[in-house]
Amino acid sequence: MPRRDPRRPPRLAEFPLIRDLARRFGKTGASVRCGIGDDAAVLRAAPGDLLITTDLLAEGIHFDRTTAGFEDIGYKAAVANLSDIAAMGGTPSHLLVALAIPAGCSRSDIHRLYRGLMQACRPHRVELVGGDTSASKQGLFVSLTLTGTVKPGRALTRSGARVGDLLYVTGTIGDSLAGLRLLAARAKGRRRTSVSLDAKDRRHLIGRHLRPTPRLAVGRLLAERRIATAAIDVSDGLSGDLVHICDQSDVGVEIQASALPLSPACLRYAGQTRTPPWSLALTGGEDYELLFTVRPGHRAAIERLSRSVGCRLSCIGTIRAKRLGRRLIQADGTTHPLPVTGYRHFSATAGPG
Ligand code: ADP
Ligand code: MG
Repeated sequence: MPRRDPRRPPRLAEFPLIRDLARRFGKTGASVRCGIGDDAAVLRAAPGDLLITTDLLAEGIHFDRTTAGFEDIGYKAAVANLSDIAAMGGTPSHLLVALAIPAGCSRSDIHRLYRGLMQACRPHRVELVGGDTSASKQGLFVSLTLTGTVKPGRALTRSGARVGDLLYVTGTIGDSLAGLRLLAARAKGRRRTSVSLDAKDRRHLIGRHLRPTPRLAVGRLLAERRIATAAIDVSDGLSGDLVHICDQSDVGVEIQASALPLSPACLRYAGQTRTPPWSLALTGGEDYELLFTVRPGHRAAIERLSRSVGCRLSCIGTIRAKRLGRRLIQADGTTHPLPVTGYRHFSATAGPG
């Protein structure tokens, strides 16, 4: 039992908090024999392969309480995990939440965090079955563990891309980084920045940063229909995440800058800030879109899939031989090495991408 320092502000009582969380957010269905409240959760084993993923968010590294509220933090934490399951082609099922809570956080702050978490999870029928709660001497830590299922042998990995495959991405990219920069400028009190975007564009970009959409339906169909050869979600920046596919598949890649899908709001942001749109698209992280490769014969299947889930799927390049490296082809036909500037922890030059 850790000792309490009497000079510190009072902390939340652990057990009443857990009871409260269980009552508000811990309702579960038939797949859960025993949820929150015992030494471990008891789940009925589902058929298929089991997926399990975990993600740790640390205050000051992954989020900043000046640009994100508790609901936003919870929502983003859930999406980071849901998106990992999407990138494997799976269906998410059960969630565990470990928290280290600093002094000064109230019970209603933690409720708001769980409301955000469950807002992201509920549409996918993910059930909260347990967690762990500790005090923290410095900052808030949120660690989620999410399970999921996928048909046996169908999980999408990073290692299946082959020379000649087409590279696709879901949705639009770069919005999240633009939204984060707008929020950061606002937090610093620079309401009137050189960026003159209308309220609708700002709302769109900030919304995409705070409320990204995990691409679960796309991932699941890519796996079920055996369309994708490899997949990853864009969490650290498209070019950085693409490196993982290239390294693990032992291939190179060629990207067409003009094919990168940017939203109209992001294009206007790029224009206002004199940033090349391709650079926002390649380096911006936390879009939680899926980046995946398909055999060239599957173009028509991709178009059908795109229509059936109502999600834009853009072909942005081609997998090439490893010796050709990773290249970016600009609209004027000039070829450049693909810049890699995603977020890197433990690096001297680390900084949000
Ligand atoms: P133990 O001492 O065995 O780890 P705890 O007192 O930490 O047990 O947890 C009691 C129950 O509450 C367990 O079912 C655990 O999974 C759940 N739990 C603890 N903290 C959280 C949390 N932050 N969110 C959800 N469930 C939690
Ligand atoms: Mg515990």
